[in-house]
Amino acid sequence: MSPHRRKSAATAAGSALAAAAALLSFAPSGAAAPAPVPDSPPSAERTHDVEHFTPSGPRGYRPDVPARAPKRISDRHRPLSPAEAKADGAVSSLHRTGSTTERLDLVFVGDGYTADQQEDFHKDAEAKWADVTAIEPYKSHTDKMNVWTVDAVSNESGVSGDPTQDVVKDTALGSYFWCDGMERLLCADLNKVNSYAAQAPAADIVVVVSNSGKYGGAGYNRLTGYPFDGVSTLSSDHADSGLIAVHEMAHSIGRLADEYDYGQSGEYTGPEPEDVNISTYDADEMAQNGAKWHTWLGKDDPAGGTTGAFEGAGYYEKGLYRPTETSLMRDFSVREFNNPSREGLIDGFERYTQP
Ligand SMILES: [Zn+2]
Repeated sequence: MSPHRRKSAATAAGSALAAAAALLSFAPSGAAAPAPVPDSPPSAERTHDVEHFTPSGPRGYRPDVPARAPKRISDRHRPLSPAEAKADGAVSSLHRTGSTTERLDLVFVGDGYTADQQEDFHKDAEAKWADVTAIEPYKSHTDKMNVWTVDAVSNESGVSGDPTQDVVKDTALGSYFWCDGMERLLCADLNKVNSYAAQAPAADIVVVVSNSGKYGGAGYNRLTGYPFDGVSTLSSDHADSGLIAVHEMAHSIGRLADEYDYGQSGEYTGPEPEDVNISTYDADEMAQNGAKWHTWLGKDDPAGGTTGAFEGAGYYEKGLYRPTETSLMRDFSVREFNNPSREGLIDGFERYTQP
């Protein structure tokens, strides 16, 4: 597990439950109780809950998806030619500012790019890096990050499920739209992601760029047992797909919570969450208690208006508050993080860059 990781109690409990459910579903009947989930390399049986996005932002639904690509996709896989195999796994640095131990190491891996298309992958990775660093506080903290690219050579160009659900492609990472039956949910084979990311000098966050013009992506932001903190997938040639990496990186770096709710999701009655951008306190209580983002209350906020406390956050309609009406942690209608989230991200950069 990465030393940078620290999850909120609610998140940790959620992952433990999901992992337990995954294990239980594979336990033979009559077998002893399953052992705790080991912090070990991924296995075929594992599932992960992923965040799902539409062009307007993250959606209130986190399906459990398998770590591996479905059989109909893996069955199509053929070995690379010797020349292709030689090019497979090549590493380049896109942005290098310091030692991996004192930087946040972001790794781009391409999927659905043939041996002849690796230059396209490099251009696409640069474009996504530009999308991320157009937004604060990433923009003013590029000196805290290294960016690596790992070439993954696919036998076929494009990815499964594009343009239609029946399309199956033989690609290095097994990316596929229509994951869990949802057109825009772009899953990948995490075992393969893991093996390519391991080629880079270090990997804190992995972005899988799938060679496609169709909007889509996914966020694997509650990973355990991998040497990185999070993975986001996104399509290469859709103008808005870079926002998926922007949002997912914020979960990993800033330990930020989602500021949306599922609608009809009832009232949160648990303890004050650890996440810096959601709270059980309304503005008055926060000011009285000197809690959470009380120092920002009433200040101009880059995400719009002034920082306050708006009910509905952390997947609950009631009982949890967010700092602004909207922000990149709620939807993509405003392309800014609010004040508390920016502060959380800046603190996160400090954690990654401490020697
Ligand atoms: Zn999210």
